[in-house]
Amino acid sequence: MAEVLCEGSDVSAVTTSSICEASSIPATSCEIDIRRLKFVESTGSNGSETEPTPKRRKTKSSQMIRRERGPCVLVGSDQNSVNPKEKLVRLESALQCPRHGTMSVCGRRRDMEDAVSIRPDFIQNRHFFGVFDGHGCSHVATTCQERMHEFVAEEWEKIESKDALMTDRWTEAMKKSFRRMDGEAVNWSGQGRIPGCRCQQGRPMRSEHVGSTAVVAVVGPMRIVVANCGDSRAVLSRNGVPVPLSSDHKPDRPDELERIQSAGGRVIYWDGPRVLGVLAMSRAIGDSHLKPFVTAEPEVTVTEREEGDECLILASDGLWDVVTNEMACEIVRTCLRSNEPVRGGEGEVARASDKACADAAMLLTKLALARRSADNVTVVVVDLRTNV
Ligand SMILES: [Zn+2]
Repeated sequence: MAEVLCEGSDVSAVTTSSICEASSIPATSCEIDIRRLKFVESTGSNGSETEPTPKRRKTKSSQMIRRERGPCVLVGSDQNSVNPKEKLVRLESALQCPRHGTMSVCGRRRDMEDAVSIRPDFIQNRHFFGVFDGHGCSHVATTCQERMHEFVAEEWEKIESKDALMTDRWTEAMKKSFRRMDGEAVNWSGQGRIPGCRCQQGRPMRSEHVGSTAVVAVVGPMRIVVANCGDSRAVLSRNGVPVPLSSDHKPDRPDELERIQSAGGRVIYWDGPRVLGVLAMSRAIGDSHLKPFVTAEPEVTVTEREEGDECLILASDGLWDVVTNEMACEIVRTCLRSNEPVRGGEGEVARASDKACADAAMLLTKLALARRSADNVTVVVVDLRTNV
């Protein structure tokens, strides 16, 4: 059963999701007709159905990337030309959850193992977006969907009073959150109901062979924090130029290869580079049988927001395997431009942009399928424009 999940949400409201079920598409099917998808409304605090599917053989590794940029620009660069009322409107806009849309499709895979988590205001004036791409089974990705934002909020609160640079505080909070998430995945006992978990449906999977990527973005009025573990990716579009905010954890990335080998592991080429010939990414949540070669430590970037920021795209490798950063950003920018919100009612503005983000996410997903992506495809689009 192929599944599609798409989501759009109000600025102020809890995310609404729509689960779209496609007619059953055999894994071997060559043709995927998006028109066959049937959309079924559902509600939830965030959306994503995850189910088990064989997507193993990936590796990851850890490293921290720090990106310090110039001073934050929240409103116009020439602020004197902006009247006070407009300044206030823009400030309020910057504090609200950015408009966003998401879509997730099973594609040619037998099972859906991607998961999405969107949590507006999970910390005051900060908003959480996460994409989790599971392998082996869906339950680690689903657990990330349900718990990661809680860990991040808790770890952030714990260190917020400390006198440290914002980058250091976020880096510490993210590292601790991912470590806790990994601990939960590794110690998972199979108890509790997790939608789509094969382990609980008479098809037992050894839980130590189950894992998930995690790319998480915390969007605040001043900056965007991205923590990544695995080969999902976050890309910012700024002044028409794609700016990667994460670096894929592939086993053949030179520093990752060195880390794996120095820990005593090997990267074996079998349908691409894989840690011990098994996992095609070098870092992941879970996968305890591949530790310490596969680690759950994230790389973290902290990026100051600027006036030229247009959108943020988070997606699983089902998109990035077949669509470049440049093309993805161009498609989203085109969707945002073609759905310029009408000045006037706040609700009208929000709806127009939410629709633009949802349209962009759907278009990217369709493009990935048309380009014969072999994986689940999940896309989250966030509108970062502050001057609309
Ligand atoms: Zn499971």
